[in-house]
Amino acid sequence: MTGPRLPLLIFGVVFAAALVLAALGYLSLRRWEQAAERQLREQARDAAVMAAEKVEMAVVRAEQDGIADIQAAALDPAFGPEAVEAWRSRHPLFDAVYLCGRDGRVLYPVGWSPEDGLVIAALRAEISQGFWDRGGRRHLDVGGRVVLATVLQGSPRGPLLVGLRRDDRALGRDVLDRALAATEGRSALVVVDASGRSVWASRPLESAAPVLTVPFGEALPAWRVALYEPAGLAPRDMVRRQAMTFMAAFALLLGLIGTGLVATYRLQRRESEIARLKSDFVANVSHDLKTPLSLIRMFAETLEMDRVPDEVRRREYYAVLTRESERLTRLIDNVLDFSRIESGRQRYDIAPGAVEPVVHEVLESFRHPLHQQGFAVDVSIAPDLPDVPLDPEALKQALANLLDNAMKYSADRRKIAVTARREGDGVALEVADEGIGIPMSERERIFEKFYRIGRSETQGRRGSGVGLALVKHIVEAHGGRVTVDGAPGAGSRFTLHLPGA
Ligand code: ADP
Repeated sequence: MTGPRLPLLIFGVVFAAALVLAALGYLSLRRWEQAAERQLREQARDAAVMAAEKVEMAVVRAEQDGIADIQAAALDPAFGPEAVEAWRSRHPLFDAVYLCGRDGRVLYPVGWSPEDGLVIAALRAEISQGFWDRGGRRHLDVGGRVVLATVLQGSPRGPLLVGLRRDDRALGRDVLDRALAATEGRSALVVVDASGRSVWASRPLESAAPVLTVPFGEALPAWRVALYEPAGLAPRDMVRRQAMTFMAAFALLLGLIGTGLVATYRLQRRESEIARLKSDFVANVSHDLKTPLSLIRMFAETLEMDRVPDEVRRREYYAVLTRESERLTRLIDNVLDFSRIESGRQRYDIAPGAVEPVVHEVLESFRHPLHQQGFAVDVSIAPDLPDVPLDPEALKQALANLLDNAMKYSADRRKIAVTARREGDGVALEVADEGIGIPMSERERIFEKFYRIGRSETQGRRGSGVGLALVKHIVEAHGGRVTVDGAPGAGSRFTLHLPGA
């Protein structure tokens, strides 16, 4: 399989595998979350039940103390309202006391309000004959308040029914604080009363989330203990965080794999392109070598056979021989230099020198082909050119390549301008033609080795594709750079910027 399909396929497979992994990871995270949730609930239930039991025990103990105390007081023949008042001050957990005789007389409070009346009525209604005889203890709900009822035996006044109304605020203050003070751990315990109001909390709730509630026993009917987990510590939040981390890691991994594949694909494409360019290069160079060789051979044979009687013609033939052998030399020099550059063996002999003689020499060697192909050459060399560090042979080769291209890529308008001008303390050397020009998008690539613009092939212009790579290498070895401008169809202008010393 070739082209972009293979990397796409690989990416698809990797993506699918990553998706499967992600799905498996998600499932196991879900399972973990459920197990953790279950465990958390169990622990929370244990903690809440334990807290409820502690509170219940504390309440029952306080109630027992209160009852034992009032029972003891009731044995005294002088038991009366004063003794009850004294008892109340010792047991702040209860905010109201009711005492009734078996005959229904209310012994305490002495004067009672309508609210007290309600409690007394409830006490009488709830307490059966059996309760008077058997005794015992009951919690009654009267108007949302808990009233503890019991029968005191052994008083000189006969059995007394006592109702003790619990003070919820005192309960929170005295009992809950003491019973639950030692609660530890990250969860928060909250005691909620019958109306859903929170009476006591082990710590500020802030953004904690409720996990569960458990009821108290008989001593605190309709009250509940609620357990809260701090935000972010619930298994769901932890799973969400884990899933986010996994997802980010997956995305990163996929990104890396994708980038790797794209890079591999590019590299592979570039390599196959270089391989194609190389084989084109071999074909083009062979062709370029053959053309001057066959011309040389043809003209040499004609001369050898003495078939050219006319002296002018003969001179022309000799000139062709010289020109073609020069072309051959240039071509071979290009290939040899290029191979030296490729293997890193190319050396330049750079020393301060004048640019002008180089320009003249190159133009001279091109005089004949330029003239023969009908080119008008406009040469302009500034008089004040400074000497610059240069390797004359290398610079000649660069200029020759530019001139060769200018001729090759000119169509009908056969005009070439060669300009050398001062640029700072250096020299700018330009070769401009009015030929086919170079599209903007190709202006970087033409300096790459073997690179030729597709059209050069189709328009029948042969070449090896290393000329400009060589020009670039040469000018850079001089510490300068080469630039190109112009517009497609309106010609191109190559400039060698040679810095001064
Ligand atoms: P080639 O041997 O193909 O001329 P070069 O490296 O000298 O190789 O040039 C690379 C490509 O740049 C050429 O194939 C051609 O497409 C383009 N090119 C170079 N010089 C010119 C020019 N003066 N006008 C238009 N195109 C040019």
